Amino acid sequence: MPEPTASPRLPRLVLLGKQGAGKGTQAVRLAEHYGIPHLSTGDMFREAAAAGTPLGLDAKGFMDRGFLVPDDIVIGVVEEQLAGDRAAKGFVLDGFPRTRHQAEELDRILGPNQLDLAIDLDVPTEVVLHRIAGRRVCANCGAVYHLDNPPEHDWTCDVCGGKVEQRDDDTEDAVMRRLELYEMKTLPVIQYYRRSGILAHVDASDEPDEVFKRLAELVDSYFDPGARAL
Ligand code: AMP
Repeated sequence: MPEPTASPRLPRLVLLGKQGAGKGTQAVRLAEHYGIPHLSTGDMFREAAAAGTPLGLDAKGFMDRGFLVPDDIVIGVVEEQLAGDRAAKGFVLDGFPRTRHQAEELDRILGPNQLDLAIDLDVPTEVVLHRIAGRRVCANCGAVYHLDNPPEHDWTCDVCGGKVEQRDDDTEDAVMRRLELYEMKTLPVIQYYRRSGILAHVDASDEPDEVFKRLAELVDSYFDPGARAL
């Protein structure tokens, strides 16, 4: 009898980048493309807030003002998602880690199933400000639109018919605070992954299809060491 073919190993990825860099959009595509779960801490908190759970209401207080949710809460939520051997099956993390402490804790949670790549989506600040100011999101399924690219019918989601609206934390004040926090708290995360040798940069200022093509090429090249270019 022939040996069963070993199933290919699935990628374990972190997407980094300023708010509005396209982490959510690209994480959804990567998850679909590789058949891996998309783990977004922001989505988890928004869902918990909409459901009115104590965790959600606690998190919403921080989110709406553009502050980070405290590390112990976020780490607990991610640990639940990656418990047991779930990490071994691949994943794309979006919005986590956002502090150096979270990055260290992620390494601990992953144990033997360490990250393959931490990918920084590079976008100039003026581009993300335009993207966020015009961003509108389906309250039901999370599909993302823009004032320049609205749904077909009167702010009703093309995908699920849900109501398309501005996120509570996409106000100018909250956005400026989130960008400041990014500089202060998340740049050290980029440093951390640079030192670990798993950091890659992708220019994410172009259209989503083009950015996705670059990302998939990068991830594929990681699993084909001959073509590897970090
Ligand atoms: P996002 O959808 O990733 O932009 O996240 C929305 C908000 O959720 C952030 O502005 C934070 O308030 C909170 N949040 C999401 N992920 C984290 C994290 N890893 N650490 C702290 N706060 C987070």
